[in-house]
Amino acid sequence: MQIAEAMPVGAAVWRNPGAPGSVEEVLLDPAGPSEVRVRVAAAGVCHSDLHQADGHLGGELFPTVLGHEGAGIVEAVGTDVAGLEPGQPVAFCFIAACAECRRCLEGRAALCERNSRASFEGTMLDGTTRVRLADGKPARSFLGIGCFAERCVVPARATVPLPPGLPLWQAALVGCAVVTGFGAVRNAAGVRAGESACVVGLGGVGLQVLAAARLAGAEPLVAVDRTPAKLELALARGATHAVDAGAADAARQIRKLTGGGADHAFEVVGRAETIRLAWDSLRAGGTAVVVGLAPVGVEAAVPAIGFISEKSLRGCFYGSGEPRREIPELARLAADGEIDVAGSVSHLAGLDGIEDAFGRMRRGEGSRTVIVLDRELAGVSP
Ligand SMILES: [Zn+2]
Ligand SMILES: [Zn+2]
Repeated sequence: MQIAEAMPVGAAVWRNPGAPGSVEEVLLDPAGPSEVRVRVAAAGVCHSDLHQADGHLGGELFPTVLGHEGAGIVEAVGTDVAGLEPGQPVAFCFIAACAECRRCLEGRAALCERNSRASFEGTMLDGTTRVRLADGKPARSFLGIGCFAERCVVPARATVPLPPGLPLWQAALVGCAVVTGFGAVRNAAGVRAGESACVVGLGGVGLQVLAAARLAGAEPLVAVDRTPAKLELALARGATHAVDAGAADAARQIRKLTGGGADHAFEVVGRAETIRLAWDSLRAGGTAVVVGLAPVGVEAAVPAIGFISEKSLRGCFYGSGEPRREIPELARLAADGEIDVAGSVSHLAGLDGIEDAFGRMRRGEGSRTVIVLDRELAGVSP
């Protein structure tokens, strides 16, 4: 039976841009008719969470419960929800695409015209919120999810049922890092076997771009980062070469390694300098795909003469495809061992470990931290 009253849950809350978050007890309102309540097992700490904490994404989005990449078990379903039952393991999908608008019908559900706004404003689809702080003030749920919490209420369409066999601490990453990285390679770039590629930025998403490019047969496949440990990890995970992003001649090295320039350059950082580096690494006719999220106000510049060489610069959001369709397929590949999610996780931590994870991110250390809310549910071996 559905609990009709607000329930207290532990959650990580950010009140002001640039100020640290705190773990506190909040009140979670019941799921609305088209919503579900999920008991969160695990949640990945993504660079987008850090951008939001730092106020880089614009808007008046505080206070907010961060977290948008996670997995858990459905605990309660709204009266209008079909096809989801309590007990169902799910991953979050932070664009609750409508399946009816022009973008959705084109197969570009990540750009859904109807439901993107609620996601960016951190509300449910009706514009209201489900979290209240101890003082009664409503709090937003980042990207409509807010899964740095023991439980969260989300639109039913913001969940995707998971196939069996994948521990939830790994499934947590499928709904952002994995679908974003694989979509960049498959949907945005369309990498084919034998084409060359470089990946600039080897965090949680960059490692998935690398994995997808390797599975697509990209060769040579050049890993580019400023942290030596990340380059070593990338070489162990299938990169054919590694280049120090901080080297003055990094672009020249990449062009040399790829026989005159890469067919595909993936930028997975979100900075003007790395976007330029990706552009400078291309051969004539090559495409740079910008996956990294840049703070509001950042401008990127490239030498326009490059357009005469038919170079392209394109954006990529949330894998540029249909995340709800792709997440189960990617989860199955991960369960079958085709995609190594565990190896892209550098740290496991509790709800109070998010600020430390942000610190590592700022310093360029480690790849992905996964916040484990419930070790048993998350399938973390003791
Ligand atoms: Zn993310
Ligand atoms: Zn739509």
